[in-house]
Amino acid sequence: MTKLRLAIVGAGPAGIYAADILLKAERKFEVSIDLFEKLPAPYGLVRYGVAPDHPRIKGIINALREVLDTGRIRLFGNVLYGRDITLADLKRHYNAVIFATGAVKDATLAIPGTELPGSYGAADFVSWYDGHPDFPREWPLDHREVAVIGNGNVALDVARTLAKPADDLLPTEIPANVYEGLARSAVTDVHVFGRRGPAQVKFTPLELRELGEMNDVDVIVHDEDFELDAASVAAIETNKQIFVLNKVLNSWRTRERTGASRRLHLHFWAKPVEIVGTDCVEAFRFERTRPDGEGGVTGTGEIREIRVQAVYRAVGYFGSPVPQVPFDERRGVLPNREGQVIDDNHEQVHGVYATGWIKRGPVGLIGHTKSDAMETIRNVINDQANWWLPAAPDEAAVVDLLESRGVEYTDLSGWQRLDQHELALGQAEGRTRIKVVPREEMVHVSRSPLAAAVTDPR
Ligand SMILES: Cc1cc2nc3c(=O)[nH]c(=O)nc-3n(C[C@H](O)[C@H](O)[C@H](O)COP(=O)(O)OP(=O)(O)OC[C@H]3O[C@@H](n4cnc5c(N)ncnc54)[C@H](O)[C@@H]3O)c2cc1C
Repeated sequence: MTKLRLAIVGAGPAGIYAADILLKAERKFEVSIDLFEKLPAPYGLVRYGVAPDHPRIKGIINALREVLDTGRIRLFGNVLYGRDITLADLKRHYNAVIFATGAVKDATLAIPGTELPGSYGAADFVSWYDGHPDFPREWPLDHREVAVIGNGNVALDVARTLAKPADDLLPTEIPANVYEGLARSAVTDVHVFGRRGPAQVKFTPLELRELGEMNDVDVIVHDEDFELDAASVAAIETNKQIFVLNKVLNSWRTRERTGASRRLHLHFWAKPVEIVGTDCVEAFRFERTRPDGEGGVTGTGEIREIRVQAVYRAVGYFGSPVPQVPFDERRGVLPNREGQVIDDNHEQVHGVYATGWIKRGPVGLIGHTKSDAMETIRNVINDQANWWLPAAPDEAAVVDLLESRGVEYTDLSGWQRLDQHELALGQAEGRTRIKVVPREEMVHVSRSPLAAAVTDPR
């Protein structure tokens, strides 16, 4: 029977779901799957994006873990595609590759002042508080007033993490250095800005409601933002989610302030104009907008400024190019037709597929990566006639290759060791888990059984 030797690059939800779906799919060939991940830990943005105080969503990791724990997929962690392994290598050892490399960078916000010290990409802050090994360990939280630009769930995650008392995050899996950083934070006022009105926000109700449930934080909204046009009223009347969001927002209009030590202000109808400052951020300048009658907004010409010392730009994520593979610079994705990667002439690049955020763009929930993967896998299966014909398909050959290059890869048992180690660190302090952050520490624990008992997570 023919065998499909498949490489998947990226062990986030998209890569793991793709492997799972292929293993369970009806097919006329055997499969052998190798999963390459640049980090020593799998799960992508579920581990390094989803907020630590969202344990229910983090719990999706349990389902992903079950897929890996079947032992039917080989995991090669700490292996960077493009450096440790190339497309030529994959062609030599596999019949096809699926790229599931996701997105970790911030989309650009094209206004003056974004380069000023004190202007941060939300993705960088998220990577810090979620303990991503490739980001700085220290985060400057010495500002009192901060702005968060954006009206999606990531903006809410950032605003909530900035406003929430650090001790309320302690029961989560946040790394020790993050707790210490947040505990020292000088933040008193977090201002969240959206270009559109309360009936157009992209929040989900659960995440919005959470803002009002934080200890020692007053949520503040402004009556002037609630003068709604006919389109907004219609949206509230016809869309259940918008109805609920508006109910939550409206309930805050009449809420008494409690004199809490922190305030979270929600501003609508505010189009970013400039991050103002000479040597560092001093203010955020925006233009008031109004509905344009077609579901969008238009500027009113009224410019306002609010004093802040830091600005977090939460205007979306953006995919990064994958070496030796076509890339759509405009959309930040691998150009593809239902997961089949295509070149500039719209011709299929045989053997090369995409799934997840790098296929579709960085929007949508974890669940969406499953339907994505189904489509991609269907095409991998149907394309059998066009698979690569590898010169060295033997499963041992790729291990020899990585070893000959001195790549310190980690495997499934190494990851399980690190996982257990983090759980044990947590248990010792009455917490579920404490993440290990430094990459060398992660690799050390994964690759040496004796290290697990003695290392320091910081
Ligand atoms: C801040 C934030 C909060 C979120 N919160 C939620 C939430 O609460 N609920 C929800 O449903 N969804 C949430 N999401 C969305 C969810 O995280 C994504 O839908 C999902 O992670 C996308 O999966 P993916 O596998 O395509 O990409 P990713 O999760 O990004 O995984 C890609 C993987 O590929 C690896 N990789 C990249 N390049 C290479 C390379 N060259 N070589 C080897 N490996 C590589 C990366 O290290 C990563 O592990 C959130 C997203 C963000 C950014």
